[in-house]
Amino acid sequence: MSAYSRLSPEARGLGMTSQRARDRLIERLQADGIKDRRVLEVMRQLPRHLFVEEALATRAYEDTALPIGQGQTISQPWVVARMSEALLEFQTPKRVLEIGTGSGYQAAVLAGLVEQVHTVERIEELLRNARRRFRKLGIANIRSKHDDGRLGWPEEALFDGIVLTAAGVTLENALLDQLAPDGVLVAPVGAAGRQQLVRIRPDGDGRVREVLCAVSFVPLLSGVL
Ligand code: SAH
Repeated sequence: MSAYSRLSPEARGLGMTSQRARDRLIERLQADGIKDRRVLEVMRQLPRHLFVEEALATRAYEDTALPIGQGQTISQPWVVARMSEALLEFQTPKRVLEIGTGSGYQAAVLAGLVEQVHTVERIEELLRNARRRFRKLGIANIRSKHDDGRLGWPEEALFDGIVLTAAGVTLENALLDQLAPDGVLVAPVGAAGRQQLVRIRPDGDGRVREVLCAVSFVPLLSGVL
């Protein structure tokens, strides 16, 4: 049984937003190289159409980023899957910090995979909508705050995992400082047009930095709205 089976038929989805549409998306993600069964299963269940505006709901199971207002986008499903998989590859983190809540979709995926998610968003209206979605879906293991996420969430550090869903030109030291010594960080890094998905993970006594693939994210900006 799906974790969300007690939702209304509208919320569970019909036609273009049905379970069949989600199943097809999962097949496509697998064909495009996503292997982690836990990630695929969580994404198979989570109704992505509830994370976009109603007018775009019929496109929710295309493997594409979509606008969510305020000039921001919900990430492409393949990217959400790849980042989640990269985070979980060596160990399952217990406490994960996400920077850039946006629609809340990536946070909701992580909430199905780890014990506790903390997420920070700089645009209040987006955060309000994301919180409404978490409530509607009965997701109780996400804590969120309205702040400039480049500062992380120092009161709650250390984190076993940190995920950024907006790209800085470099990695913020404040965030690296909030990563547990054996923690993993996954983030898009670089200027527009030449961003790379980077992973920092423990290696012997130190850390290694790996480049996973080329990506295209909205920029990590300062201040709050
Ligand atoms: N994880 C989101 C992706 C949203 S796009 C999802 O699944 O829908 C990236 C988000 O990062 C945007 O909402 C943007 O407002 C936010 N963002 C950009 N810079 C930020 C910062 N410094 N602190 C917190 N959020 C930030």
